[in-house]
Amino acid sequence: MAEPAVHPKTPPHPPPAAVEVRGLVKCYGTTRAVDGLDLAVPGGEIYGFLGPNGAGKTTTLRILAGVTRPDAGVARVAGDDVATDPVAAKRHLGVVSQHVNLDPDLTVFESLELHGILHAMPRPTRWRRIEELLAFAGLADRAGSLCRTLSGGLKRRLTIIRPLLHDPRILFLDEPTAGLDPGARRRLWDLIRSVHRRGVTVLLTTHYIEEAEFLCHRVGILDRGRLIEEGGPRDLLEKLGEHAVDVPTEDGTRTRFFRSRETALAFLKRAGAGATLRRTNLEDLFLLRTGRRVGP
Ligand code: ATP
Repeated sequence: MAEPAVHPKTPPHPPPAAVEVRGLVKCYGTTRAVDGLDLAVPGGEIYGFLGPNGAGKTTTLRILAGVTRPDAGVARVAGDDVATDPVAAKRHLGVVSQHVNLDPDLTVFESLELHGILHAMPRPTRWRRIEELLAFAGLADRAGSLCRTLSGGLKRRLTIIRPLLHDPRILFLDEPTAGLDPGARRRLWDLIRSVHRRGVTVLLTTHYIEEAEFLCHRVGILDRGRLIEEGGPRDLLEKLGEHAVDVPTEDGTRTRFFRSRETALAFLKRAGAGATLRRTNLEDLFLLRTGRRVGP
């Protein structure tokens, strides 16, 4: 009897990237806000778009969220094309915009309730999720407070948990901590990490270097609508040299980068008065590549 045919195992399809962008272009008049962007963010990452004002970060998020139409290129969310299948693409997403868009006259509970109703969530599920998310964000005791009475940090917490109500796989955060004091910013970082631990892929924009370094598994540095560097913050900094010596000169400050601390210290000694040793940061990388600073 003939041996049964042995079929080699078909390799499983890799899951689609959480976010994939190919050749993306968006122009406003003569401004190329996004200029041929290629990007892939696998599920499970916290990915940060880092860049100065006007680099194209928000425009890219808006295209991915289906709010703005690109002039060219493809944008997919969890494998669904934003242009041809916008409803499916949007279903994967929670979006937190740059501006706090809470109705000041609703209570914390009511603003979550409204979001749940708009997403056609049945009441028992809605109320269970609201209770769970309020506890998750440390807002349970503020459920009955009017949004207008919340501090800036608490308002941001509420805007971050609101889209989680409909259980998205991917969360977009556009400058989540802009304008917050350092303490509130830290607490929000902790919240974003907890959101990520719930299995949500996070794509955020920022021009705070420390935010990108602290939170992100990978960063994409954007300048004039193009990705000029991408990688893990530590890897990018190691490439440059983790130790920086700033030397004051007549025309400003010159910085030298070193891989070894010993070599940096030896250079520091020779560099004379006023020279200082510090850790390299992503701002250095940006400055080196573009001649400009990221920070405000
Ligand atoms: P920011 O950190 O200031 O939000 P960004 O990196 O998010 O900056 P975008 O908001 O994407 O940058 O803007 C990219 C460029 O496109 C800028 O030059 C901006 O002025 C321009 N732009 C964005 N939206 C529009 C619009 N609706 N109409 C005209 N120009 C626009």
